[in-house]
Amino acid sequence: MKRRKKDLIIVESPSKAKTISHYLGDSYEVKASMGHVKDLPANKMGVNIERDFEPEYVIIKGKEKVLKELKKAAKSANKVYLASDPDREGEAIAWHIANEIGVPDKTFRIVFHEITKRAIEEALKNPEGIDIRKVDSQQARRVLDRLVGYSLSPLLWRRIDKGLSAGRVQSVALKLICDREKEIEEFVPEEYWKIEALLGYENTNFVAELFKVKGEKIQRLSKDEAEDIFKRLNGQSFFLDKVEKKQKKVKPKPPFITSTLQQEAFKFFGFTSKKTMMIAQQLYEGIDIPGKGYTALITYMRTDSVRVADHALKSVRSFIKKRFGTSYLPSKPNEYKTSSSSQDAHEAIRPVNVDLTPDDLRGKIPSDHLKLYELIWRRFVASQMKPAVIDSTIFEIKSGDYTFKATGSVLKFEGYRKVYEDTKDKDVVLPEASEGTEFTVLEIKKTQHFTKPPPRYTEASLIKTLEEKGIGRPSTYATIVSTIIDRGYVVRDKKALIPTPLGRIVSEVLVRNFPKIMDVSFTASMEEDLDRIAKGEIQWRESIKNFYMSFSKELEKASENLMKLDNYSPLKCEKCGSPMVLRKSKYGKFLACSAYPKCRNVKSLNQVEGVKNGRKGKNKGYKKRA
Ligand SMILES: [Zn+2]
Repeated sequence: MKRRKKDLIIVESPSKAKTISHYLGDSYEVKASMGHVKDLPANKMGVNIERDFEPEYVIIKGKEKVLKELKKAAKSANKVYLASDPDREGEAIAWHIANEIGVPDKTFRIVFHEITKRAIEEALKNPEGIDIRKVDSQQARRVLDRLVGYSLSPLLWRRIDKGLSAGRVQSVALKLICDREKEIEEFVPEEYWKIEALLGYENTNFVAELFKVKGEKIQRLSKDEAEDIFKRLNGQSFFLDKVEKKQKKVKPKPPFITSTLQQEAFKFFGFTSKKTMMIAQQLYEGIDIPGKGYTALITYMRTDSVRVADHALKSVRSFIKKRFGTSYLPSKPNEYKTSSSSQDAHEAIRPVNVDLTPDDLRGKIPSDHLKLYELIWRRFVASQMKPAVIDSTIFEIKSGDYTFKATGSVLKFEGYRKVYEDTKDKDVVLPEASEGTEFTVLEIKKTQHFTKPPPRYTEASLIKTLEEKGIGRPSTYATIVSTIIDRGYVVRDKKALIPTPLGRIVSEVLVRNFPKIMDVSFTASMEEDLDRIAKGEIQWRESIKNFYMSFSKELEKASENLMKLDNYSPLKCEKCGSPMVLRKSKYGKFLACSAYPKCRNVKSLNQVEGVKNGRKGKNKGYKKRA
C-alpha cells in the first residue's frame, strides 16, 4: 500500500520543529533549516556594484547537507510550508529556501507570532506567498552593511591597525559612547549647598528642604549664602503655611517590546541584551517541560508593537478577575499606542498561555529562563490591571523669610503593582496637621553637594537612546553592544560602557572621514528607508543607489586624506596634558605622549585605566566581516 504523501513544514531551529510537531498530527513532517542557508560570501564583498548592487549569494559553508535533505523532502511532499520567523529575517530565510528547493507550485509561506496549536492551524488555513517587500528590505540592510563594512575596514587598517573593522549602526553607537566619555572628561563640577530641616509633630518626624527665600525660588546656594541662612534660622519657629493634597494614579506600563524587555531584564537581573534574546528565543521556540513535552511559552520576541491579540486580552482579563478580584480589573481593556515607525502586524511579547503561571514552571525550566518568563508574564498581567493610587501631600512650611517644602506620598491602592513592582519608592508619611500648626525643630542641616556629569551609558540606557533616536531595530539592538565589545572598542565596567583608547581613535577617524555615516539622523533616515522598502513604498536598489552615490564620494575623499594623516588621536596625556599619538613597536601599535622625551607616558590601545577586562594584545580574532 502506498503511503499518503505528507505536508512538509520548514522552520529555522530544531526546537521550533519539535514544538510544532508536538502540536500537529503525523500528516505533517517538520524540518529545520538551521538558520540561514544562503548569505553573502565570507571572503569578499559579494555585492556587484556595477550590476545594480546585485548580491552574490552563496550557500553557507556546511549547509549543503541540510539543503540536500530539504530538497529531497520537498520533492516527495504534498505541500511545502515555509514557517520561518515572522519578520524580515524570517522572510529572507524562507525566500532563499524556496529558491533552492525549486518546487514553486506547491510552496507556501505561513506566518504566526506564537507557536500554539491554535496559531499554527490558523496559519495553515491561510497560506500566503513570500512577501518580497520584506525580503527586499532585508537584502537592502545586508547589502548596505556589507558596502559600509567592507569599505571602512581597510581604511582603519591603514590608519590605525590591522584587523580592525567597523559596522554601520555599531559605529554610530560607538560614537555616542565616545561623545559621552568626552562630556564626562570635560565636565567641571560645581559646588552648591542645601539646607534641610528635620521637623516633628506629634509622633511623626519628617524632612523639609529650603526652596524659597522671600517668596522667590532659590537657585543653587553658595557656601556663604548657606552659612548666612543657617545662622539666621537658628532658634526660629517653623509654621505650616500651606497644605496641598492630591491623589495620583499611576498607570501600568505597556507589555514588553524587544527594547523594553532588554532594558528591564538588564535592570532586574543584569542580563546582557544578547543573553536576554537568547533565552527569549528559546521560550518562544519551545522548551521541553517534564510532563508536557515541547511547549512554547512566549510570543515572538523581535517586535516593536504593543498590540495584543483579542484572545489573549480575553484570557488575561479573566485571569485577573479570578486571581485578584474585580477591584483589580479595569472596566475595559487598557489600550496602548505603538510608535508610528512600527510594523503593526506584530504583537507585544507576552506569555502564550497566561494561565501557565511562573509558579507552575518553577523547577521545570532552567532558572534564568524562569526569571525571564516571570518578568514577561508579570509585565503582561500588570499591563491589564488597574492603576496604583497614591495619596500625595505637599507641605509649605514658613520660618520668617524662608519657605521649606516637604512631600509625602502613601500608596493607597497597589493596583498593578501587586504583580509588577516597577518602583522601590517607600511611603513617606507626613503628620496630620492643619495650616498654622507649629512644628518642633529637631535639627537644621546644611550639606555640600556637587553637580554631576552625565552618567556613562549602560547597555540598557544605550538601547533606549538608540530606540529614541530611531537607530537600529528590534532585530539589531542585541548585537550592537556585543559587537563593539568583541572588537575591543568598548569595555564593560560593572554596568557602565567605557570606550577603550582604540575605540575612541576608531570613532574619531570615522567621524572625521565619514561624517554622514556617523551622523545619527542620517542613520535614522536609512532605517526609515528600510521600513519603507518593507512596506513596498520604495525600491531597494533605488535606495541603495542613492546612498552609494554620496558614500562613494566620502570614501574617495577619505582615501586621499588618509595618505597624509598624522598619528593624531583624540586622547590627552593624563600626566602632562599633551596629545597622545599613535606609535608602533615590534609588539604592535600603542599610544605615546607627544611631549616625549620630556614625558614618557604610554598607553595600550585596548586597556581602560582601572578596568580589568580590556582586550589584551593584538587584534587577532576580530571578525573582519561587516
Ligand atoms: Zn605626557
